[in-house]
Amino acid sequence: MSQSYEKVALIGLGLIASSMFWAMKRGGLVGEVRGYARSGETRDTAREIGLCDVVCDSVAEAVKDADLVVLCVPVGAMGAVAAEIAPHLKAGATVSDVGSVKKAVIDAVGPHLPENVYFIAAHPLAGTEHSGPRSGFAELFDNRYTLLVPAEGTPLEAVAALRDLWEGMGAKVEEMDAEHHDLVLGVTSHAPHLIAYTMVGVADDLRRVTDSEVIKYSAAGFRDFTRIAASDPTMWRDVFLNNKEATLEILGRFTEELFALQRAIRTGDGEMLHAYFTRTRAIRRGIIEAGQDTDAPDFGRVKKEPSKS
Ligand code: NAP
Repeated sequence: MSQSYEKVALIGLGLIASSMFWAMKRGGLVGEVRGYARSGETRDTAREIGLCDVVCDSVAEAVKDADLVVLCVPVGAMGAVAAEIAPHLKAGATVSDVGSVKKAVIDAVGPHLPENVYFIAAHPLAGTEHSGPRSGFAELFDNRYTLLVPAEGTPLEAVAALRDLWEGMGAKVEEMDAEHHDLVLGVTSHAPHLIAYTMVGVADDLRRVTDSEVIKYSAAGFRDFTRIAASDPTMWRDVFLNNKEATLEILGRFTEELFALQRAIRTGDGEMLHAYFTRTRAIRRGIIEAGQDTDAPDFGRVKKEPSKS
């Protein structure tokens, strides 16, 4: 495969950046990868585990000469990081990000960037509940979608180069506009996370009543919620603060459905419940048919050891 970028800089060295690094190395997709994280502790860990070819102690050193700079920090930090890197960017470079929200990131980053660089926002629809530099693995993006949101007027070659890189990392790539992205992700990711956080919060309140039985007898439904609700608090705080409109719209609809189900339970409307659950089961089948999950029973235990190279 031809290397679209000779020099890549990853700013922020957590789950997504480290997975990108291992996936780029697996495919031999780029020349040199430089990394930067704000804390000395993360930079030390990165050096210790060989994450990035060079770990820099300043953002300027990391982005200088880079053909591609990818911002891998929480959504709420994107604007400040863009301001920091802007004076050091090479003319003709591409700047991208991996943030879970697109419109707010584009609004925050765009104004800081010089005219002579291209900004192509991106979001890999892949993640785990783990975070930090040790949590990444090369297979994270395999067969998962990455959505690209190029700024208007971005040259087709610049978009094609980023597309090639993500495809090389195993992803399926599509383009989407920012508002649509935020609504779709509101339904498929953001609202479900909020619901999981709520359910685990309720169970935690109840735990005080049932004396830890919630933990001891945790069944698959609750266990699945706890996995989602273990996701990084900073990342998810920023997602909700920055995808306010879409999340509130979906939660409004969710509340209406919840009331309808509550009413069906109260009035003993088994027909309604059965029809509802039949409809939702078909969605699960659709996800499996689309290759986005397997239908192997998952008791939350089967895990393949991910690779770092
Ligand atoms: P992560 O593992 O928690 O790593 C975050 C990195 O950002 C760390 O290196 C951290 O630096 C740095 N950082 C945190 N706050 C910062 C700030 N205020 N200023 C500068 N740097 C800061 O996070 P991640 O899961 O890789 O997420 C990174 C981005 O990917 C987020 O925008 C998230 O929305 C998006 N995303 C996440 C997932 C997922 O499932 N996790 C999936 C798709 C997209 P230190 O280590 O030095 O503190």
